[in-house]
Amino acid sequence: MKHARPIRSDQNDGRVFIDMPDDAGNPCTACGACCAYFRVSFYCGELADGSGGIVPAELTRRISALLVCMQGTEKGRGRCIALRGELGQPGIACSIYAQRPTPCREFAPWLADGTPSPDCQRVRAFIGLPPLPPLPSLPPAGGGSDEGV
Ligand code: SF4
Ligand code: SF4
Repeated sequence: MKHARPIRSDQNDGRVFIDMPDDAGNPCTACGACCAYFRVSFYCGELADGSGGIVPAELTRRISALLVCMQGTEKGRGRCIALRGELGQPGIACSIYAQRPTPCREFAPWLADGTPSPDCQRVRAFIGLPPLPPLPSLPPAGGGSDEGV
């Protein structure tokens, strides 16, 4: 099976954003646990309300002068308004993936070295999903493939 290696992009301010490939090896497409567990809060400058950001403001709630959060996640263990589908079932997805806020872009199933993210494993277990295996090692520079078993 081909593993869905996260696509990492370094931001100018030191953050690392993660995009998951749109293929069958992406465990997020049959999970969604992190979108129904954490409070997803972020700086209001990320809103697409003239603040210069891209996150749809109508899907958020103000929680302080500078912070907003995705509706539904205000208290934690609540489902984000942008999540579509059934938790833990194939086809679940973020309806604003290209416009999702920073905390969603920084969260990934695997760490940079290919070990499963402990936070991801914890919330997967919360909805009854098994832990993820580590990703296979990266191929040597200039050759090989990332095909797993
Ligand atoms: S908990 Fe992990 S596997 Fe599940 S959607 Fe979030 S990042 Fe993906
Ligand atoms: S915005 Fe999308 S990725 Fe972020 S918590 Fe909501 S459904 Fe999940």
